[in-house]
Amino acid sequence: MGTRAEERESARQSAARLDAEGVGNVALTWVDNAGITRVKTVPARRLPDVAARGVGMSPVFDVFTSDDACTASDHLGGPDGDLRLFPDLERLTVLAAQPGWAWAPVDRYDQLGRPHPACQRLFARRMAERAAAAGLELRMGFETEWVVTRAPQGTAGPDALDYPCAGPAYGMARVVELSDYLRDVTEALTVQGVDVLQLHPEYAPGQFEVSTAPADPVRAADEVVLVRETVRAVSARHGLRAVFAPSVVAGEVGNGCHLHLSLHREGTSLHRAAGEEWALAPDAVAFLAGVLETLPALLAIGCPSPASYLRLQPSHWAGVYQCWGVENREAALRLVIGAPDDPDGGNAEVKTFDAAANPYLAVGAVIAAGLHGIDTAAVLPAPQTGDPGALGVRERARRGIVRLPATLTEAADRFEKSAPLREALGEVLHGAVLAVRRVEEAHFADRTPEEIAAATRGRW
Ligand code: GLU
Ligand code: MG
Repeated sequence: MGTRAEERESARQSAARLDAEGVGNVALTWVDNAGITRVKTVPARRLPDVAARGVGMSPVFDVFTSDDACTASDHLGGPDGDLRLFPDLERLTVLAAQPGWAWAPVDRYDQLGRPHPACQRLFARRMAERAAAAGLELRMGFETEWVVTRAPQGTAGPDALDYPCAGPAYGMARVVELSDYLRDVTEALTVQGVDVLQLHPEYAPGQFEVSTAPADPVRAADEVVLVRETVRAVSARHGLRAVFAPSVVAGEVGNGCHLHLSLHREGTSLHRAAGEEWALAPDAVAFLAGVLETLPALLAIGCPSPASYLRLQPSHWAGVYQCWGVENREAALRLVIGAPDDPDGGNAEVKTFDAAANPYLAVGAVIAAGLHGIDTAAVLPAPQTGDPGALGVRERARRGIVRLPATLTEAADRFEKSAPLREALGEVLHGAVLAVRRVEEAHFADRTPEEIAAATRGRW
């Protein structure tokens, strides 16, 4: 980022470009600790001022919950204080499915221009820089899964699930039924500069998935926000509603938001060694071992809602056991093998995460866990094949396979005690995340799974 004066000048040029394209409004988004994308919008002509001085927003949103209640941590909460939102104009994007609108993600600073200690996007950047200081470059990408329903009308309550397609899981029939809609999704993303890798119908009724090309960690987090809001906007234009919540119907397969990552040093992938089908360089082993070891605590970041734990069931491809495996879709950490001629194809997938996660916290916390693995020379246990959920309790114990936290309470307890995550996030951000988790546990403590799914379905 340049000086504020330089930012003002480049914003002046951006505003002129937007004006020429008939774009009058800019949505400035950030994601709170409950995973909700919050926004302030400004007229495009105000961008130069906004780039120089920011836009005000209360720090209380750091302790907002997914149901719009607020709590407090040791450092945050209450009506006092203000922050300034500064857009990252390198990410300024004209929105294809919202004519007249553009979008940019923001970083949050205090009124004196100091970085806000609970800014999740600055945290993600700090962690990427920490990796770079260790000579490591990370490339990351999220998969976006969503369930599409008809927008509720007439007497149908807001929670009615009315699927606009009836075709089977992964079935071409679904693509035929919704071909205009799906074409518009990929077109809108492509026009916005998002590199779509693939789109397909998923397992659950009305469920689809789009995946996008890997990018640096902060960009990957920005992009999943943009993808989600684009899918939402295209859905609305088709009279449809996109549901990204972890659990759409309690007990059924839910929506994941898997995080793919690959490690590189001086431009060389650490996921492959010459002459072998696949191999991991020692730093990649230690990094992934650090992620695997920290996963119980990372769940408080990647699976942050009580609804997340409705999705996390064995044998649902959600990766609920703390193990890794080569191309094993029931392992929490799946090693993905690239095509033989693709030097960058190898990567690892954290399968357990869902779209209630703040993606900036997710990328930052995974990097922190991986770097901790390198610092402590962590080692990977033996890889697992097959579905650990299909093994008996004794066989799982014999293989040393442990279930990841099955409740938000358990994940939050692990997060509270995690020294590497506390250090990386800093007291203020760690405390705010924990406060939000604790109050969400309490809000939903007496509700049935069906009530939790219905109450959270429309939130993200
Ligand atoms: N929908 C599954 C989940 O909850 C994932 C299916 C897949 O492997 O893509 O994560
Ligand atoms: Mg999927």
